[in-house]
Amino acid sequence: AFFSCQTTSETSDSPAYLDAGNSIAVRVNDLMERMTLEEKVAQMCQYVGLDHMKKAEQNLTKEEMEKSDAHGFYPDLHSSDVVKLVEEGQIGSFLHVVDVEEANYLQTLALKSRLQIPLLIGIDAIHGTALVNGATVYPTPIGLASSWDTTLVKKLSVQTAKEMRMTGAAWTFTPNIDVAREPRWGRVGETFGEDPLLVSDMGVAMIEGLQNTVYADSFNVIACAKHLIAGSESINGLNGAPTDLSERTIREIHLPSYQAAVDAGVFSVMTAHNELNGVPCHADKWMMSEVLRNEMGFEGFIVSDWMDIERLATRHFVAENQKEACYQTVDAGMDMHMHGPDFIEPIIELVKEGRLTEERIDQSVRRLLEAKFKLGLFEKRFVDTKETEAVLFNAQHQATALEAAQKSIILLKNENILPIQKGQYKRIFVTGPNANNETILGDWTWPQPQDNFTTVLEGLQQADADCAFDFLDVGSDLRNMSASDVKTAYHRAKKAELAIVVVGENSFRWNWSNKTCGENSGRSSIELFGLQQEVVESVYRSGTPTIVVFVNGRPLGTEWIADNIPAIIEAWEPGCKGGEALAQIIYGEVNPSAKLPITIPRSVGHQLAVYNHKPTHYFHKYVDSESTPLFPFGHGLSYASFEYNNLKLDKQVIASNETLTLNVEVSNTSERDGVEVVQLYLNDKYCPITRPVKELKAYKRISLKGGETKKVSFTITPDMLEYLDAGFKPTIDAGEFVAMVGASSADKDLLKVSFSVK
Ligand code: BGC
Repeated sequence: AFFSCQTTSETSDSPAYLDAGNSIAVRVNDLMERMTLEEKVAQMCQYVGLDHMKKAEQNLTKEEMEKSDAHGFYPDLHSSDVVKLVEEGQIGSFLHVVDVEEANYLQTLALKSRLQIPLLIGIDAIHGTALVNGATVYPTPIGLASSWDTTLVKKLSVQTAKEMRMTGAAWTFTPNIDVAREPRWGRVGETFGEDPLLVSDMGVAMIEGLQNTVYADSFNVIACAKHLIAGSESINGLNGAPTDLSERTIREIHLPSYQAAVDAGVFSVMTAHNELNGVPCHADKWMMSEVLRNEMGFEGFIVSDWMDIERLATRHFVAENQKEACYQTVDAGMDMHMHGPDFIEPIIELVKEGRLTEERIDQSVRRLLEAKFKLGLFEKRFVDTKETEAVLFNAQHQATALEAAQKSIILLKNENILPIQKGQYKRIFVTGPNANNETILGDWTWPQPQDNFTTVLEGLQQADADCAFDFLDVGSDLRNMSASDVKTAYHRAKKAELAIVVVGENSFRWNWSNKTCGENSGRSSIELFGLQQEVVESVYRSGTPTIVVFVNGRPLGTEWIADNIPAIIEAWEPGCKGGEALAQIIYGEVNPSAKLPITIPRSVGHQLAVYNHKPTHYFHKYVDSESTPLFPFGHGLSYASFEYNNLKLDKQVIASNETLTLNVEVSNTSERDGVEVVQLYLNDKYCPITRPVKELKAYKRISLKGGETKKVSFTITPDMLEYLDAGFKPTIDAGEFVAMVGASSADKDLLKVSFSVK
């Protein structure tokens, strides 16, 4: 891996676990034999970083801390207590240590403990290690998924791992492989969208890039597949609300990405805030032990989500007290407590009482120690801060952030406006709450240096220095937009030749009171928040040609905009180079290639608008609205135009163990070079269990020069034909299948051909 391990000098009395020449198994065994029960359970305990704790101490009153388990800070615990606990070897892990000096300091404290076990420092580095000041911030996962480019995702994950290690963290709570089918849920932007295959592929690319499992015995950093399970489809879309779904939906939609992550060697999994069908995920023995470990073969460790063990007693009421909560979760399969002091004592008591065995504790500790050895932490626990500078936000990482932004921004609609030319317009009116702020950085970002990111307005100004950009600042607080700005927008737009309105959501984490999107920011509507729609309408009424850019972390159902505005761009949260990439797309220096990884529904009432629905989903239609999506899954335009022809299969009938080759010709019928994402869907036409009308089975990103035609081939393999039978066994059903190939999941974009399985 990246981080060469310095071998500890061997002396005759040096314990075997400190000798890097020994195998990991030998080192773990040796260390475990030396550990007391207390020292073992300590490895299962995680705490919040000192700086983060101090900030909470300063910013929140004791009552606020007591009241809010969303903050989860302990009113009676001080950073000085934590220092002592580390020195005593009573803490195994930290999260949210966002400063390399603090990381080094904590490791110094751990070195004072009896066994000198290094700390495992975890962080939410979900699109770059963006909680760290000065890090490279890539587009959020929904944008990354829009690229349909796993090579890109792997590349930026390798870079993220480097930035993490150089700032002291060795474990990231990512990828979020929740399958997002509920746009009211605030965390859609953290996910790779609604399709099990795309989510799996993106998750695997991220895991491979982060962990770099090509080195069988070491990790760059440890990835974490989360959140087990299905919090993305909770009742009413509220974070942490119950999920009530059939085992079939869980197995068909929500579990495949976990199997893919396990197969890719993910070494940690986080359980979800919610309950599933009456059982809180943190106490779900079936899911953690039977499904994840026994069925799927997971060999890493499970971490709880923030304060969710506590909530077994305080929110779900399945446990009468914290001790009972600790019992339930560890008995179910939990390996680490996030976060705080209320774990070590109850667990020790439970072992002493014989309710939990020491063998059960050993299982967890073994996995956690294995992680530390695989990361090389015993040999290299400190970061040489001189090296940090060379890695953090370096030119190569910035270039990848720009590439990722270019590939993640989707052109949703374009009626002869885009691209614009330099010098074409002398005066462009720019407004909207997200035109000139850090929302482009997305959730799980803390403040970044102003010079490290380009806003949309700045990107435009840099792209066309001769144009006068008239910017109306309407503020970024969507709750307090001013009606007078709506009027002003009309007058100022009227004076310009073109208007660009940047609207969306606010998921910037630092400012909790302004947030409308991101964690714990569920919405009861998917329309534009505040007066944003009014601003767009006002600009449109001025008669000046208008482009709308969305900067947001969840699909927004803005039918009026889709119907009336001639050019619409979905930028998601494109990261530190977002403004630059957007300007390049608007000015045609970059030809957009991204495609929606999630359906954009017309309204909140159109739930569940997923493309892979069942045949009777729209048997009867709504009487008050269209039943189609506003923009379908897989949709995304280019400045080039593509045509699909001659879809052919090499066989019409196959045996269930045979493969099939499908060929299609894709032509670029324009003069511009472009990139198209060719999508293959399958439908099992008749089946004893109802099957989705289509399921994505493969896709290819291809480059086509202007006027060029390429033959694209797909191999249809037996696993693509499988479904889960009544006993959830993967089975192939004989009979007719339909293969569909095209530019999106919409029928109008697909060529179809049938074949049958004998
Ligand atoms: C989130 C997790 C996150 C954790 C630590 C929780 O509230 O659900 O996704 O990893 O906090 O920040």
